[in-house]
Amino acid sequence: MAELRNIVQGTLLENEPMSGHTSYGIGGPAAAYITPKDRYDLGEILKFANQHSIQTYFVGSGSNLLVADSGINGIVLTPAKALTHLEFDGGNVIAESGVMLGRLVKECIKRNLTGVESLIGVPGTLGGALVMNAGAFGGEISNYLNSVEIMDMTGKVKTYYPGDIDFAYRFSTIRSDEFVLLVRFELKEENPEIIQEKRNKASKGRKTNQPLRFRSAGSVFKNPPKHAAGYLIDQAGLKGTRVGNAEISEHHANFFVNHGQAKSSDITALIRLARKTVFEKFGIKLELEVKTIGIDPQELEADDA
Ligand SMILES: Cc1cc2nc3c(=O)[nH]c(=O)nc-3n(C[C@H](O)[C@H](O)[C@H](O)COP(=O)(O)OP(=O)(O)OC[C@H]3O[C@@H](n4cnc5c(N)ncnc54)[C@H](O)[C@@H]3O)c2cc1C
Repeated sequence: MAELRNIVQGTLLENEPMSGHTSYGIGGPAAAYITPKDRYDLGEILKFANQHSIQTYFVGSGSNLLVADSGINGIVLTPAKALTHLEFDGGNVIAESGVMLGRLVKECIKRNLTGVESLIGVPGTLGGALVMNAGAFGGEISNYLNSVEIMDMTGKVKTYYPGDIDFAYRFSTIRSDEFVLLVRFELKEENPEIIQEKRNKASKGRKTNQPLRFRSAGSVFKNPPKHAAGYLIDQAGLKGTRVGNAEISEHHANFFVNHGQAKSSDITALIRLARKTVFEKFGIKLELEVKTIGIDPQELEADDA
């Protein structure tokens, strides 16, 4: 740790509770939670971690993340609050990965640029959004992508173009050892009334459908091909089911909410229960949308319930 301290130019928090860095408000301490000062700093930290075989995880604002109660015995690196440069040149947008998605959406709307307005209200950073291929109300973040700069564990920067990455529903082939640094989009101008209409529709839909008063990580499962996961969990009779301080939301059954002091193990118990019950009732295997850190995959399997 002393060696790491000497390298880091940004901020390094030791034994930092991840509950302060996830929208669930859940997660034990990370041995080192680091916000690098800039890409040079990031490169040096990645090289150090790589040379010493230290487990390293990349986190945006933790809004799609479930972290184990036991925490993370390794380094967590985040661009949030540091790599936040955002630049416009007509319809060309250049944004660092720590830019919050909400800021990007608002700045695009302000300039009458269309493409990302339906993502209004999706929490998170741009880096997390790209890795997840975040989407809402018909739009996906990858739709207007021009290029992405990533840094690998040797500190080398590579540029990917759309053909280099596969994007699908809440999926991208960006690897877990590739840190997203910067994203470029190409957007077109549009009549502001049309943009506002799409934005308002998305915003209203979100407020009506989602339990936004409680802490969650959004949808727990991906929607299977024919039915919404929330519908299946609801039809399985699980709405309102509680384990500890966690609950399958009465409002939207694919949102599991934290009523205060929920543990990661409460959420994983609900995940197992939902998977088991939906499979028994409908023969459908639910696939996780949320990403996990430090959780044994067995703990997430239906068979264990
Ligand atoms: C109330 C609520 C509503 C939501 N609604 C939606 C919705 O409508 N649509 C939707 O798609 N999602 C939704 N989500 C989920 C979440 O907002 C998105 O997945 C978001 O894009 C995650 O961004 P993040 O920065 O928080 O990423 P994190 O949760 O921090 O990370 C997500 C993944 O990205 C990786 N990652 C993050 N940053 C980087 C980086 N710089 N480099 C490399 N890898 C990185 C992480 O390792 C992890 O695998 C919702 C969540 C909440 C809480």
